[in-house]
Amino acid sequence: MTDLSMAKAAQATLDVAAIRRDFPILDQKVNGKSLVYLDNGASAQKPQAVLEAMDRYYREMHSNVHRGAHTLGDRATTAFEGARETVREFLNAASTREIVWTRGTTEAINMVANGLTGRLGAGDEILISHMEHHANIVPWQMLAERTGATLKVIAVTPQGELDLESFGQQLSERTRILALTHVSNVLGTVNPVAELVAKAKAAGALTLLDGAQAVPHYRPDVQALGCDFYVFSSHKIFGPTGIGVLYGREQLLEDLPPYQFGGEMIERVTFEKTTWNTLPYKFEAGTPPIAEAVGLGAAIDYLNGLDRQAIEAAEQALLEKANTLVDSVPGMSVIGTAAHKVPVMSFKVDGLHPSDIGTLLDQQGIAIRTGHHCAMPLMDFYGVPGTARASFAFYNTLEEVEQLFSALQKVQRLFV
Ligand code: PLP
Repeated sequence: MTDLSMAKAAQATLDVAAIRRDFPILDQKVNGKSLVYLDNGASAQKPQAVLEAMDRYYREMHSNVHRGAHTLGDRATTAFEGARETVREFLNAASTREIVWTRGTTEAINMVANGLTGRLGAGDEILISHMEHHANIVPWQMLAERTGATLKVIAVTPQGELDLESFGQQLSERTRILALTHVSNVLGTVNPVAELVAKAKAAGALTLLDGAQAVPHYRPDVQALGCDFYVFSSHKIFGPTGIGVLYGREQLLEDLPPYQFGGEMIERVTFEKTTWNTLPYKFEAGTPPIAEAVGLGAAIDYLNGLDRQAIEAAEQALLEKANTLVDSVPGMSVIGTAAHKVPVMSFKVDGLHPSDIGTLLDQQGIAIRTGHHCAMPLMDFYGVPGTARASFAFYNTLEEVEQLFSALQKVQRLFV
C-alpha cells in the first residue's frame, strides 16, 4: 500500500464524517470558506454530548454541591462526584481522593509547586526540560526563588527529543522534583516519561507529568507511569474551559499543604484554629466548577465510546500526510521531527513571518496557531521568534491537511 492509501485505510476505520457531525462548531463558514480547525493543541472543540450534558445539568440539577439539604443539591453532587470517578477511571488512579479539580494545568502545577515550598532549600534542585510550556517553568522558577533551590534544565536535541545524556547528567541525589511534559505542545514529541520517572524516583525525587498535550491523544495510566503527580486541562480533551485535574498520590496529597483557603476545604473553623477537610476537598476551596466537571466527565465518556486505537491510527495518518506534503511548499521546514510524535506540526517558511502565515490562512478559513506557544526558551533554542503550528484532532480529515498545504502554497506565492 502507498502512504496515502494506508492513511485512507486508517481514516476509514474511524467514521470521521460521523464524528464530525458530533462537533457542531466544525460545520460553519469562516471568512467565506468552510472552517478547517487545526488549532486543537491550543484548545479542542466540544462534542454535542458535552454541550448537552452541561445544558442538562443547568436545566435539571443545578444547585451547590456537598450541602445535602435538598434534592437538587443531591443531584448536583451525584453528577459532580460521578465526573470525578470518570476521571479517576480515565487515569487509572487508585482512588477519587487522588483527583483534585483545578482551573487547569497551570493551576495544578502551581498547587504542587506552592505546596512544596516548605520542603526545599538551598542546595536542592528542581529538574525540568528545555521543551516545557511556561506553565511548567515559571511556577518552578518561583519555587526556586522562594527556597534558594536551583532550577536545572534537561537539554533538547535539534530533532526535538529530550537529550537523555543531559537528563543523566542533570539528575542527582539533590533533585527534589522532576517536572516534565508528557508531550510537547510545540514539537509534538512524546517523551519516554515512564523510563525517566523511574530513574528520578530511584534518585529519590518526586515526579510531576504535564499531561496537557498527551490526554487528547492517549489515555495515561498513572499507576503504570509511576508518577507522583499528573496534571491536565479539560479544554484540550474536548471538555469545557475553566476546569482541570491534579492527580496526586494519596499520601503525598495528604502531606501537601492546601493552596487556597475558605469554604469547602475546612473540617472545623474557630477563630483560634482551622483544620482541613479530607482529600480531595482540602484543595478545593470555594464553590467548585460544577457544570464544568460534568462537561469534562461527558467529554471522557465520549472519548471512551470511540475506538482509541483507530483514533491513534487516524491521527498518525494525518501527521504522515502532512509530512509528505512539506516539500510541496518551497522554503518550508518542520521544527520537531522526533520519532514518536502526536499530530502536531510546527513549521516555518523562509521569508514569511509566522503571524503573516496565520493571518493569511485565516482568510482561507484555516485556523492554526502562531507565536511562541508559551515556550520562549524553546524558541530561543531554535533561534526563531515563533513558529506556525498546525495541531490535528481525530475529527480532522486528510482533505483538510491537503487544504492546509494548498493554502500555504498560495501564501508562499503571494509573499516570496
Ligand atoms: N502545558 C502544556 C504542555 C500546554 O500545552 C498548556 C497549554 O497550552 C499548558 C500546560 C497550560 O494549560 P492551561 O492554559 O489550560 O492551564
